[in-house]
Amino acid sequence: MADYDYDELLDRARERIPKDISERSRWTMPEPDVLIEGSQTILRNFSDIVSAMDRDANHVYQFLLNELGTSGTREQVRVMFKGRVPPIRIKEKLVAYVKSFILCGQCRAPDTRFIKEGRTSLLKCQACGATRPVKL
Ligand SMILES: [Zn+2]
Repeated sequence: MADYDYDELLDRARERIPKDISERSRWTMPEPDVLIEGSQTILRNFSDIVSAMDRDANHVYQFLLNELGTSGTREQVRVMFKGRVPPIRIKEKLVAYVKSFILCGQCRAPDTRFIKEGRTSLLKCQACGATRPVKL
């Protein structure tokens, strides 16, 4: 996980998308803007990142808290984590989120949606139509 470079991952995701789709969605994610202030860590552009991801802010937030093993406060635009979290760790967790909850398992396109099939949540790819189960 940690050896995945953030930009490289996103570039790779883009490369695999058929041209018309990648042009249409032009998927880029802002770099996390992290500020460590005293004993807390502030992710200042959380809302920008979430809107680029096109995912539920609370789902992303809860994922980050679990993965970082800390608690926090979510505001409109930013998120504050308890403790000093190295920015690289936040980046890694965002990449992990992208891999788990955004990229298609087949074609790696980021153009995906959550759907429900009975009680199972699936990630459905808008590019190739593939689905895979996700734990939400
Ligand atoms: Zn796909």
